[in-house]
Parts: sequence; C-alpha cells; structure tokens
Amino acid sequence: LPGVEVLDITWFTESMEAGKPVTVEDRHRIGDAFEILSQNYEFIESEGPCLAFMRATSVLKSLPHAIHSLQDLEGLPCLGDQTKAVIEDILECGHSSKVQHVLSDDRYKAFKLFTSVFGVGLKTAEKWYRRGFRSLEEVKADSSIHFTKMQKAGFLYYDDISRAVSRDEASAIGQIVEDTVHLLVPDALVVVTGGFRRGKEFGHDVDFLITTPETEKGEGILHNVINELKHQGILLYYDIVDATFDKTKLPSKRFEAMDHFEKCFAIIKLNKKLVKCDGQEEFAGGKDWKAIRVDLVVPPVDNFAFALLGWSGSRQFERDLRRYAHYEKKMILDNHGLYDKTKVVETKSFQGKILILIV
Ligand code: ATP
Ligand code: MN
Ligand code: MN
Repeated sequence: LPGVEVLDITWFTESMEAGKPVTVEDRHRIGDAFEILSQNYEFIESEGPCLAFMRATSVLKSLPHAIHSLQDLEGLPCLGDQTKAVIEDILECGHSSKVQHVLSDDRYKAFKLFTSVFGVGLKTAEKWYRRGFRSLEEVKADSSIHFTKMQKAGFLYYDDISRAVSRDEASAIGQIVEDTVHLLVPDALVVVTGGFRRGKEFGHDVDFLITTPETEKGEGILHNVINELKHQGILLYYDIVDATFDKTKLPSKRFEAMDHFEKCFAIIKLNKKLVKCDGQEEFAGGKDWKAIRVDLVVPPVDNFAFALLGWSGSRQFERDLRRYAHYEKKMILDNHGLYDKTKVVETKSFQGKILILIV
C-alpha cells in the first residue's frame, strides 16, 4: 500500500545471540506504556511528543513477534532516545517509572476519566479539573454545571457505552441500519467502516457510510433514517451535523482531520435477542438491551471511496497516508478526494473503487 513503509526484517532473525528476548507480552506492555505516555502528552497539549509516542506504538505493532535483543531496535524509524529509554526500563525492571508516574498523576487520572464520557473533550476535562473535580460523581453532583445534550446522554448511558462493542453486536447493529436504510432507499449502499472494517474484534462504536447511486434519491436520507429509527423506538440519542461540503473548493487546511459530509452521532438501543448468543456476556444492569454508539456518515457517491478510505482508520494510518500524499506526491488527500496543489484532481469513486482521471 502506498504510505506504508516496508521494513527489512530479515536481520531480526539473524541476531539471536546477546540480550534478553523481547516476548510478545513485553511488546504488549511496551505498546500499552507508549499509549499511556502519548495520551498524557495529549492531555498536557504537548503535540510533538504525543505524536512521537503514537508513531512508536505503530512501529512496535508492525514488528514481527520475535525480537531477540534491544540492539535489534536500532535503525528502526520513529524510535528515538525517549522511547528507547522506556523500552529499556520495561525490559530491565518489568515496568517504566515514567509510566508509573503518569498513572498516579492527578491530572492524567482526571482527564482519562472525564474524557471517557461521550461528549467530553479536552476543553471540558480541563475546566472540570481546574474546578477541583476528580470523580464523575463530583461532577454530576454540581448543579451549577451546564451539560450539553451529548454529555447528558454520555452520563445516562455511561455503563453501556464505556464497555467494548463486540463483533456480534456490531453485526446486529449493521443489520438494523441496513434494513432501515433499504426500507427507504432499496439500492442505497451501506458499508461498515472504522475499526470493524479493519477486522478488529472490539470497538468503542460502530461506524457506517451510507450513499445512494443516484444523488436525488439520497436527498434527506439521513433525516429519514433517523425518523425511522425513532419510530422503531430504538434511538436513544442523535446529533445530526449538516453537510458543509463545497465540491469546487480546495481543502482549506493541509491536514484536516474532520470532513464536511452530512453525518450523525447516535446511540442506538440494541435488543439482546438480536445478538448471536455464543459466549455473550451479561448485559449491564440485568436489562435486555445495551446502548451502542453509532456513527452514520453520508457522503455523495462521487466521494464515497475517499470517505471510505478516510473513515476506515486507523488514525495513525490516515495520518501517514496524508503525509505520504503531501511529502512524496505533492498532493493533498482528505476524506473528500485527492487534489494537486492548485486544482481539484478529477476523481470519481464507484462502489469503493477510486478512479483517478489523470489529464
Ligand atoms: P474504535 O473501535 O475505537 O471505534 P475506530 O478506528 O473505528 O476505533 P473511530 O473514532 O470510530 O475509531 O473513527 C474511525 C475513523 O474515522 C478514524 O480513524 C478517523 O480517521 C475517522 N473519523 C472519526 N471521526 C471523524 C470525524 N468527525 N471526521 C472525519 N473523520 C473522522
Ligand atoms: Mn469506530
Ligand atoms: Mn466513530
């Protein structure tokens, strides 16, 4: 794939001699440690080190499982002195003092907890932290706080939506979304994207792209789908964001994370009966349903493939693809299309295939 650096890994197997073997468990521990540090840098708004640790996590994940000595890490991209020091710590004493320090840090703990609520971002977490709150109970008990509609839903369904969504639950939600869309527009395309498209077993939500081959038929489709879900009595929360997409304009920012498609962030009530039951754990609170976070994105059919590429993630992969387009190809890639620096490159997408017309 373009944008993916292929590492020469043959020398890993050649250096079996000195050093302590890095086991798969070690790699997990190192990866987890990097994620904690990266998130802590995000919380203190230190972007450089945050990205550095995120990249290092990706490099570790992409390594073959047998690494036999620390020296083997030399020459790998994205592993600098800071990341190596953490690895060394973990290999020597089983943990990193730097990570221990972060884990017991008040600010980190509070930010981690607050941002786990749907609708709470860094700004709100900062505000609550500064007001001296350290637990969700303290936040909820303060009657002077004005919560957004999203945060209210976040607290209301906290137990359900902070638990992972399984593949079986995602399929059940997929069936509901597909049936509802097809009831309204039989030939509409409904595709699962995000982590489940990448083959993950668990996710924090289920992401869908919906589009119609003929633009006219798709008009108002998202509002109609939402109304239909409401009618079925399974829509617990929704927030529709209208499209702000102008086909003729070049992207305003070089690395824009957000896109301009019409979309909806929702919470759907999933009945236990609809989920394949093997190994199914108990639903929280003894109820027969679980609240599931669902994202619905509705790009025009011509942008569909780029939207699919952009929403498939992972975030790090998307970032690297964009960097590759920019630095290696002198082009701009985002969720809407591919552009050269001066004009919109003529592209069409059809059923997930991107056609690039080079003129
Ligand atoms: P998880 O299993 O935790 O849901 P995920 O990879 O599916 O993992 P999401 O947050 O659901 O993570 O996002 C999926 C992908 O969609 C991300 O990689 C990101 O590139 C893209 N994405 C998410 N939110 C937006 C947004 N508001 N605008 C544009 N793209 C987004
Ligand atoms: Mn997702
Ligand atoms: Mn999502």
